[in-house]
Order: sequence, then C-alpha cells, then structure tokens
Amino acid sequence: MNFALLAQGAAHLVVKRYAGPFWIRRQWLKKTQWFNESELEGIQLKLLKQLIHHCYSTVPYYKCLMDERGIKVESINSLEDIKQFPVLTKKDVLQAGDSIISTKYPKWLMRIAYTGGTTGTPLLIWRDLFSIGSNHAFFQRQKDWAGVGLRDRCAYLTGRLVVRPDRTDKRLYSYDPFMKELILSTYHLSIDTAKEYAEVIKRYRVTAIDGYPSAVYLVAKTCFDSGIELKLQSVLTSSETLTESMRNMISRAFQCEVYDYYGSAERTSIIHTCEHGSYHIIPEYGLTELIPLGGSDNNKCRIISTGFWNLAMPFIRYETGDIVRTTDEKCICGRQYPVVKSVSGRKADVIKTPSGREFGAAILTHLLYGTDHIVESQIVQDELGHIIIKYVPSERFSEKDLMAFQQLIIRHLPQEMRVELRRVEVIKRTDNGKIRPVVSEIG
Ligand SMILES: [Zn+2]
Repeated sequence: MNFALLAQGAAHLVVKRYAGPFWIRRQWLKKTQWFNESELEGIQLKLLKQLIHHCYSTVPYYKCLMDERGIKVESINSLEDIKQFPVLTKKDVLQAGDSIISTKYPKWLMRIAYTGGTTGTPLLIWRDLFSIGSNHAFFQRQKDWAGVGLRDRCAYLTGRLVVRPDRTDKRLYSYDPFMKELILSTYHLSIDTAKEYAEVIKRYRVTAIDGYPSAVYLVAKTCFDSGIELKLQSVLTSSETLTESMRNMISRAFQCEVYDYYGSAERTSIIHTCEHGSYHIIPEYGLTELIPLGGSDNNKCRIISTGFWNLAMPFIRYETGDIVRTTDEKCICGRQYPVVKSVSGRKADVIKTPSGREFGAAILTHLLYGTDHIVESQIVQDELGHIIIKYVPSERFSEKDLMAFQQLIIRHLPQEMRVELRRVEVIKRTDNGKIRPVVSEIG
C-alpha cells in the first residue's frame, strides 16, 4: 500500500467532488447537453460577460490591455465581440508573469498544473479550487457518454507518477480506493510490463482505461498478440493523435469502443466523443474559435479558445497550438454541439523535405502503427533530407516484417528523403510520459 498516494487520493476526492461545485455542475451539464443552439449561445454569452467583468476587475494584465485598447466591459454584447481582444500566445502568458493571475483568490485556494514542455518552455497554470470541481464534472460527463459511471473503476495510462521513472524495483501501479482509480506507470511501459498491467487490470475488475493512445495501444497489441483476453466497457484516449489503426487494434483487443477526447492543457477548450462516435466541441466549457489555416485545405483550423471556468488564471482567445479538421455533418445523438471530424497534433510536429513538402505526425504514425509487430515508433528528423525511424519490435518481429516495413517507407516517403531505420529497446518518453510521434531537430 502506497500511503502517500492513498492520502493524495483522499485529497483528490475532496477537491474534485466536495470542495467545489462538482455535484451542481454535474446536474446542470446533464440538462444543458439537450439545449438548442440559441439556449447554448445564451449560456455562452452569460459566461463570457461574467468572465470579462471578472478579468477587468481582478486581473491586472487584462485591465491594462482593455484600457489600452479601449475595450469596455459593457461592449461585450455578442459572442463575436470577443474579437475585440487580440489572440493570446504562450509567449504573452510567459511575459505577463503574475499579472495574468486574478487577485481574487489567495494562493492557498489555488493549485498549480503544468502544461507539457515538449514544444518549448513549460507553462505553470494556476487553477482555483472551484474550477477543479467543475472541470471534473465536465470530464465525468464524457465518461457517462462512454458508459463509465461514478462507481466504476478506471485504469489510467497517462502521465501520473506512481514511482520515479528510473526505479524498476518497485510496484509499477497503485490503486486509489477513494477515486476508484488504478494508476499504472506509463513511464515503465514496455512489452513485458504491458502483460503485467493487463493482469492487474483484470484483477482489479476495471471497467475502462483512460490513457494516451500510444500507451493503451501498446497494452492492447500485447494482449492481442499474446492471446490475453481482456474485455472492457470502453477506452478513453487523449493528448496524442489517435490513428485509425490504433483505434481498431484497441477496439479489437478490448472488445469495446474508443472515446477519444481533447482538452487543452490550459483549460480553455474541450472536445468530447459522444455515444455515436462524433467529436463534439463543448460550448458550456469555453468559447472555441476555429480559424482556417489557409492554403488548399479549408477544413483545417487552429483552435483559439476562451475558457469560462478557470477564473484564477483566465485565458481570453488563447492560441492552443492544436489543429482540428472541421465538417458540416451533424450528429444523430441529438445534441446541438458543433462537430469536428478529427483532432490532430501540434503544428510543430512535421517532417520537411528538401523540396518543401511537409508530412504531419498523423500520416506518418498511421503508416508505422499499421505495420505488423512494431509496438512503438518515433520519427526523428535530424537534418533536411534525412530522418531516423526508431522502432521497438515485438517478440514476433521477423526479417519479413522488416522488409515490409522498408517497402511501406519507400512507398510513402519521397525519394529525396534518406531514411535510417534504428531498432531500439524503448522510445524515450517526455516529462509527461508521452511519446512524441515526430521530433524535428531542424527547427
Ligand atoms: Zn453526438
């Protein structure tokens, strides 16, 4: 029994369910999901006005910005009026320092969260305790859609720390009876530990897994290859790009649906998957603007968003760095929430060829994860015209697979790219326990 984690679990339960407005928000969200477009717009405008008022009166950064630009609190009368504000970048937030933190909350009423440090400097996000309860209610509704209730046990394969990544002599999982969470160490995930994790998941009678696609995929593939049967109610994935082949493997191995969801680390925007498999932008959470990237593909948009709930450190029109593919389709679930086709990785994750072509992480990982008997991979571009494909083979990987792999690479990557295949034991994970599918070292 890990007492530190047990105490942490009890504290989480209090913060997430009882200190904040979890129950009220949960009831509210059960109703608002069936609201029509104008009712949803009404909610958004009300929350936006409250937010702007709060920012002007308690956040020095916004007071200064609004005074400088002549933006009045009363001038926000429609959702379009948000455009009076400039786009807020990560750099702006770093430069603003403490001036972007609300003076309303004492430090003891706030918690710190970190955003991933994979694409530059990590950002410290101050969150007020009330927003944590609300956030939890939003996520619980996603779990409800996936058929996972409050009483169900869930296993986590995310960046949560169980033991230090460099320790291998300790137990690699921990069960929190308060939150009913089985936390597995993603940092120690390999083909061997994946089998162990599958057994632990069975032993704890877990209903669902929530994790990074690359991590859940590895456990699924190991179960599938080794004939380990593990049936789940559902799998939830987030934070990395989920490719179709990963989704299929997870679905087959665990005999369930995969609910992929998106949440910006800065708590400004969330996109959840409903029972019918559509990605829905959640309007009660924030005001999400989709700005076309330009070029030939009109459906590719970047996400700029304003979060309604984290009043400790409010972000207005934040440039998330994330991309979605839009669609005109409506969902048959009956909810009037906007639908997007897919959510893809960060802009920075691309391979560039000498002739100027760019390949995003999605297509490349799709190719790699679709190859037989390769459990993990990563593409590193170390110079223009040269990439290294690192891969971790499974036990069944053969000479034939290697040749098939080489053929796929020849077929999918342009001739001008020199490709080095590098067999490795493990792919290094980021500080958050994620795998970056594509690493560009050429800037
Ligand atoms: Zn739907």
